[in-house]
Amino acid sequence: MEILQDYPLQNLNTFGITVSSRYFVSISSINQLKEVLATDIAKTNSLLIMGGGSNILFTRQYQGLIILNQIKGIETTDESEDYKLISAGGGENWQDLVDFTLDANLGGLENLSLIPGSVGAAPIQNIGAYCAELKDVMESLTAIELATGEERIFSNAECDFGYRNSVFKKELKDKYLITNVSLRLSKKPNLNTSYGAINSLLEEKGINNPTVKDVSNAVIEIRQSKLPDPAQLGNAGSFFKNPVVDKIDYEGLKLIFSNIRGYINGEQVKIPAAWLIEQCGWKGRRFGHVGVHDKQPLVLVNYGDGKGEEIKNLAEDIKASVAEKFGIELEAEIRII
Ligand SMILES: Cc1cc2nc3c(=O)[nH]c(=O)nc-3n(C[C@H](O)[C@H](O)[C@H](O)COP(=O)(O)OP(=O)(O)OC[C@H]3O[C@@H](n4cnc5c(N)ncnc54)[C@H](O)[C@@H]3O)c2cc1C
Repeated sequence: MEILQDYPLQNLNTFGITVSSRYFVSISSINQLKEVLATDIAKTNSLLIMGGGSNILFTRQYQGLIILNQIKGIETTDESEDYKLISAGGGENWQDLVDFTLDANLGGLENLSLIPGSVGAAPIQNIGAYCAELKDVMESLTAIELATGEERIFSNAECDFGYRNSVFKKELKDKYLITNVSLRLSKKPNLNTSYGAINSLLEEKGINNPTVKDVSNAVIEIRQSKLPDPAQLGNAGSFFKNPVVDKIDYEGLKLIFSNIRGYINGEQVKIPAAWLIEQCGWKGRRFGHVGVHDKQPLVLVNYGDGKGEEIKNLAEDIKASVAEKFGIELEAEIRII
């Protein structure tokens, strides 16, 4: 374990931005992390924890110390007639964990298949897809406080999960490194195929009694058909969150834009950001080395030599045009450095 200087990050962020970190270290155990935290470099610089770099946009060199979390391991820690508790190291690849649970025929992660990144980052924004979120299955997590090196266990409730949100994006931002996540997964899976495309794909394939693996395969097929693979085209998934507005404002928008869509939840309505962006004419547009994906306008892409600043500027132009047309403020889902 060695703290390196001016470390290139191009292969460590899925946008593929050519940028570096003043200091960089990779840790694979809690002891190594504690050793790093005790160094002068860690004590006198800002710290940024990284996993797969699939939710970060770098617009400049990082001036502090990046700690790459590589703490691995997946194990069953407890079980009952109905559930298994699965514990995974924060540095595990998310899809490797999903595969582990599918092989054991456990239900809970199938709808979250193929989300890039690490297990330790999953609670940060309460990853979600196809009507499922991490918070539905997370029992607890273990984290090390960066300022003290002390371990703390957070219950699900203490993480204060919300839509692409948690306590780790709010008051505890950059205060902890998540070393381990514990999930309660069902031995009697209760599949959620209510997202339209999953149902139709299963029907198309003649699958009437799907297994967790069938649902996962359907999710993977749908994702691959509309989301660009970062290995081929730099991106970080959805750039913006779907905005949530009051029902009364939504009704007002509907009078002007009769084809607007929204998912009503009590007095609030979630509006697809992709639709808003498409209506402003951005879908598929390219500006030099960066652009808006042609199948999913919520995804901004780097065609190769794009700079983080160019992507950030494009995002700001998109945001301004949506605000002007719809009076809605889009909020970035990804972390901008
Ligand atoms: C093609 C594509 C599709 C995507 N689809 C989805 C989707 O459907 N749903 C969804 O929710 N997200 C999606 N994402 C976003 C991304 O996959 C998730 O946010 C993922 O959890 C990020 O993991 P990571 O390890 O890459 O995090 P990073 O990008 O490395 O870090 C993200 C944030 O988490 C913090 N962090 C990372 N690890 C730790 C840790 N161990 N302890 C404390 N803080 C930490 C970082 O400091 C940073 O603030 C997608 C991304 C891509 C590229």
